[in-house]
Amino acid sequence: MAGQTEVLIVGAGPVGLTLANELARYGVAFRIVDQAAQRTDKSKALVLWSRTLELFDRAGYVDTFLAAGMKGHGAQITTGDETIAQISLDAIDSPYPYALMIPQSETERILEERLAKHGVTVERSVTLERFSEREGGFDAVLRKASGETETVPARWLAGCDGAHSTVRHGLGLAFEGTTEPSDWYLADGHISGLEPQDLLHIFWHKDGILAFFPIVGGRWRVVADVGPAQGEGRRPDPTLEDVQALMTARGSKAVITDPYWLASFRINERKVAHYGRGRAFLAGDAAHVHSPAGGQGMNTGMQDAFNLAWKLALVIRGICKPALLDSYSIERSAVGDMVLRNASRMTEAAVMRNPIAQGLRNAVARFALGFPQLQHHAANTLAEVDIAYPDSPLTAGKSHGGKGRKAGDRWRGSLPADDSTPRFIAIGPAEAVSGLQARFPQLIQAVPAKEAVDAGALSLVRPDGYVGFAGAASDGEAAAAYLQALAAQ
Ligand SMILES: Cc1cc2nc3c(=O)[nH]c(=O)nc-3n(C[C@H](O)[C@H](O)[C@H](O)COP(=O)(O)OP(=O)(O)OC[C@H]3O[C@@H](n4cnc5c(N)ncnc54)[C@H](O)[C@@H]3O)c2cc1C
Repeated sequence: MAGQTEVLIVGAGPVGLTLANELARYGVAFRIVDQAAQRTDKSKALVLWSRTLELFDRAGYVDTFLAAGMKGHGAQITTGDETIAQISLDAIDSPYPYALMIPQSETERILEERLAKHGVTVERSVTLERFSEREGGFDAVLRKASGETETVPARWLAGCDGAHSTVRHGLGLAFEGTTEPSDWYLADGHISGLEPQDLLHIFWHKDGILAFFPIVGGRWRVVADVGPAQGEGRRPDPTLEDVQALMTARGSKAVITDPYWLASFRINERKVAHYGRGRAFLAGDAAHVHSPAGGQGMNTGMQDAFNLAWKLALVIRGICKPALLDSYSIERSAVGDMVLRNASRMTEAAVMRNPIAQGLRNAVARFALGFPQLQHHAANTLAEVDIAYPDSPLTAGKSHGGKGRKAGDRWRGSLPADDSTPRFIAIGPAEAVSGLQARFPQLIQAVPAKEAVDAGALSLVRPDGYVGFAGAASDGEAAAAYLQALAAQ
């Protein structure tokens, strides 16, 4: 039996790798294992949305993603003959007002290489078989490719092990939901004849949806629903000719060649009610799966990981009480519910077959998306920049400022560079800020006075950029009480 590790991360997909990088940045000891011999070579999740990019910015390596992807500036929806809507992403409330198009294989490569810079290697061909709970942690049984097993004592367990999660099964948590009764084709290849190349092209054809997503280097992803599910299993994977025939039949003049990946799939919509139990947590597909409409699955999972990491680090380092971690499931489960609802609505709209319903859908979309404000709202929702935690136990106080300064909101102003300890940023009158810093040096990040000054309000911004406490300039004592409630001593 090897020595105890603080955190065992099971699964090195995008979510486990994000968590690992955050914990490494915060100096927490962990191991990360994956049953696969290699990381994926598939493009799977293609979009990094604005909010995820903001979080990678705070983590210090957003530029690596930007260099490897291309900016998607919007989408156009047509019926094949007529344009229903042009949606612009340029007005998303973020320094990253676009969808960064980047194959998941590249996202994982960047994350794994970043982890290597911290001196951490993913332990591959290592499978979590089972685990048992004991006082203060778990004993996890890992099986290596050689067939040998190792029992690892870990104080915390992070199940980032995807839709069939062993951790979720081991905890006995139900994955409630359904499998949608329709079949889909997916193709990833080179496409000519689609312009402009920085837009998503969506055809709401009467026979079903056909969507094209740009990837770097003239590559595109094609997704199409091919009708009601037939039988129990999914359809056989399509051939290139099947995909080309479908594209032509649905009114596209584009031509696809050189496929990287051809697959059929079905959509599952499932979620756990609680993102873990005790010292074990679930994040990403282990906790929620849904339709790829909106491209939010991986983004939501990565944001689970960002949310969990700073809380785990503060508890493991003995700075905060373990109760801080109770907010993880409450906050992320509410986001998961919302993402599932939105993705389900988008999918329902896409797969309509009834001509009257289709006509109504097209008219409503044409009308609603004609209003810049509604478009702006839709783009912010997709980009996940309007996620907030109004009902979290970590949210306190009343707003004394403008938009983005309400407790629970994402802080919309600029924030000073993050450091290697997760800390709150106090923003308010200089005297109040320095008073809080002096009383809670481990919880308040030292911020240059000119950046921290806000004459009328006092805010405590969490390490992940959400407002935890919002008060008036004179609410220094209430802010101190907020921090005292979190602090271990
Ligand atoms: C065909 C397809 C298309 C998709 N398109 C999109 C899209 O357009 N947009 C979008 O947002 N999402 C899309 N997704 C979903 C996206 O890929 C997932 O949301 C994302 O991969 C979730 O990341 P994760 O890290 O939670 O899980 P995963 O990527 O599933 O990673 C889990 C990891 O855990 C490992 N593992 C599992 N069990 C064990 C165990 N017992 N022991 C050790 N290791 C284990 C696995 O090997 C795997 O590497 C798509 C998925 C598929 C399959």
